[in-house]
Amino acid sequence: MNKITILVVEDDSSVKNLITTTLETHNYKYLSAKNGKTALMEASTHQPDIILLDLGLPDIDGIEIIKRIRSWSNVPIIVISARSEDTDKIDALDSGADDYLTKPFSVEELLARLRVTQRRISAMKNIEQKEETEFINGDMKIDYAAGSVFLGGKEVHLTPIEYKILCLMAHNVGKVLTHNYITNKIWGSSFESDVASLRVFMANLRKKIDKNSNYENHFIQTLVGIGYRMNKL
Ligand code: CA
Repeated sequence: MNKITILVVEDDSSVKNLITTTLETHNYKYLSAKNGKTALMEASTHQPDIILLDLGLPDIDGIEIIKRIRSWSNVPIIVISARSEDTDKIDALDSGADDYLTKPFSVEELLARLRVTQRRISAMKNIEQKEETEFINGDMKIDYAAGSVFLGGKEVHLTPIEYKILCLMAHNVGKVLTHNYITNKIWGSSFESDVASLRVFMANLRKKIDKNSNYENHFIQTLVGIGYRMNKL
């Protein structure tokens, strides 16, 4: 049973019927739209898992629809179009489409592309879940579910604020975070006094997690007058 919902955007009713009948017999749920305006509305209100999009629509050009959807969503878009020129394909893919099917197409090919897209969706979900449960950098591991930090397999005891700061740095590994950014995220404000506190917390945190490393292998790097960065080791 396929639990995903597919939005079918097609103004030609015979093509639309071919697609929706195929989806129905393979247990996909679907919504349909026969013009660009409805397509954009359905995409935003129902958040489908995949969009099958015809480029030649009566009101808005398909390429424009891809661009508008891409401004707020990463939903996979498979273009199904009678336009078979290479430039049309390139335009569609450049605008953010994930795949391209030229009319006339076979039902088997459509189903195959849907399977490929579904595999990619579930692979992405796995990566996201993994990121949510743990973070590994060199010999440091943060177990988000347990709220604990390990260094070379040994648990490091952090205060709640130190832990919050470390998680914030980990989520932005490789990026410089300014003092104000960090204090806003941790305390919701960025007064001078917060920045002073941050220096104290950072010093303690670094004593705990950077004690065994030589200088080149420090997890947390200080950028004087700017902020801090967690280096990817
Ligand atoms: Ca059309």
